Amino acid sequence: MGQVVVAGSINMDVVATADRHPAIGETVAGREVLYFPGGKGANQAVAAAKLGAATMLIGRTGADAFGRDTRAFLSMQGVDLAHVREIADAGTGTAVITVAQADNTIIVIPGANALVSATDVSASVIRQGDVAVSQFEIPLPAVTAFFARARAAGAITILNPAPAMPIDRELMALVDILIVNESELSLLAGLELHDTDPDARFVDAASTLQTDHRPNICVTLGRRGVIALVDGEVHLETARLVKAIDTTGAGDCFVGAIAARLADGHSLQSAIGYANVAASLCVQRMGAGPSMPTAQEVSDAIG
Ligand code: ADP
Repeated sequence: MGQVVVAGSINMDVVATADRHPAIGETVAGREVLYFPGGKGANQAVAAAKLGAATMLIGRTGADAFGRDTRAFLSMQGVDLAHVREIADAGTGTAVITVAQADNTIIVIPGANALVSATDVSASVIRQGDVAVSQFEIPLPAVTAFFARARAAGAITILNPAPAMPIDRELMALVDILIVNESELSLLAGLELHDTDPDARFVDAASTLQTDHRPNICVTLGRRGVIALVDGEVHLETARLVKAIDTTGAGDCFVGAIAARLADGHSLQSAIGYANVAASLCVQRMGAGPSMPTAQEVSDAIG
């Protein structure tokens, strides 16, 4: 059984709720302030660890209270933090979120995440059978160096290109599995996509991302489920019919679950079915990190 190695962001999400958003220059009284450990790298590592995979996170936090709190949370979830560096002169990544009348605004300050370097990723050990996972919330040179190292070691690489930006050829050639949601696919394929579009349109859009070495591609479509191109074949997975409470972190849960199953030796097709169930459990609870399901919860749901 391999381990899941995630190189990515660690944030504290600070959520302020109010009856309405302030106008520019205005102050309004809020209701409450909530703190949720987040960041795509941390969320995906928590998802994999809670599903039972040996999971290591590579990243950076500041030497501040948010850094201590996020590290304590990650460690409680069973994530190995030996390669998370604490940086004295940087703040921990922070997302400042306001929620009012079901709309939100988000300002993300990358802080220490912006300092993750190629040197950080080369300090860790990646072996054959491991699964390397990354996103775009840490600098591109670190992601590329991480995947080059993983590929050389014979590990499987998974890229979740979020927040979406074009992927250069050098990096794309190092990707075994690309996992995107509808808006990321739309930006990467340069097509306007809608969630009412027929499956064939998503398949066509996903096909445009396949370069010479034809990576496998999973497109997550929220309550519609997943459309995947696996070894050139189209694979559809319908979402489970559940009452969604908060879809924050659903995509991260999906990515972490795929990685955990591949590290356990399962095929990508079966991992997609499993991750689709895991993510359907995540949307039934509030928050991102804290809403990730355990392996027991997923097997109970599968029945
Ligand atoms: P993201 O969080 O990146 O936008 P999606 O919204 O596409 O990702 O959700 C990821 C996965 O979570 C979906 O492919 C599906 O498996 C599951 N999911 C999301 N929303 C729902 C829902 N309302 N009901 C059931 N499953 C859901």
